[in-house]
Amino acid sequence: MRFIDSHTHTYLRGPEDLELMAISGVEGVIVCSFLPFNPSGFSTMHDLFKWLIEVETYRLSQYGISARIAIGIHPKSIPESDVKSILDYILTLFDNEKASALGEVGLEIGSKEEEEILIQQIRIANEYPVPMIIHTPRNNKSKILDKLLSIIDSENVDPARVIIDHLTPDLVEKVRSIGAIAGLTVQPGKLTPRDIYDIITKFGTEGIVVNSDIGINPSDPLALPRTAHYLDRCGVSGGDIQKILYSNIRILLPL
Ligand SMILES: [Zn+2]
Repeated sequence: MRFIDSHTHTYLRGPEDLELMAISGVEGVIVCSFLPFNPSGFSTMHDLFKWLIEVETYRLSQYGISARIAIGIHPKSIPESDVKSILDYILTLFDNEKASALGEVGLEIGSKEEEEILIQQIRIANEYPVPMIIHTPRNNKSKILDKLLSIIDSENVDPARVIIDHLTPDLVEKVRSIGAIAGLTVQPGKLTPRDIYDIITKFGTEGIVVNSDIGINPSDPLALPRTAHYLDRCGVSGGDIQKILYSNIRILLPL
């Protein structure tokens, strides 16, 4: 089995995890920008993007893992200053094809400031054919999702380029109904392989991508292989397993 993990923060994990992922068949990852604090300003964000684009891509390649880098301002790590210059810099990185996607971006509490920064980033990404990886929070998920979907609609974003991530099973239908991609995170406290089974039994495998969101929270480098193993034991076909753990994300973001 081959896997592409559609949402990770591998730069926050050690070499043992990368080795485990590589050995278990993870051949590609999408690395999303995030810092677990509010950075002071431009230079921190500049260096974060440099870290991911140059250093983390190389580190992953040493394990035989290909990487695609998503850059953006995460709603939980909005810089204390220089937002405008950071947005200009994000545009330059897309212009020079240094980054492959916008992300992760989104809303955490749904404040006016979060909304404004999200909209500005969507407007930049809309100028390029890049996918957008959109974060949904643990709290108030359904209400925030409605806000996100209305922003996507009013900004004329092609929903087929958008992954709405960390969905709970009850919200998959809403996201799929507008043609956006449903991102499902298999992680302690989020979804289990059993949840993935229930979701694809109900909605099929079209427009569904699974990820580990491996990072600072308790998370599982084997989330994808573990899910594949479970689905296989439940009798799901190899083709369907491959779609949600490999091909669907590969079509959106070729590795
Ligand atoms: Zn994340």
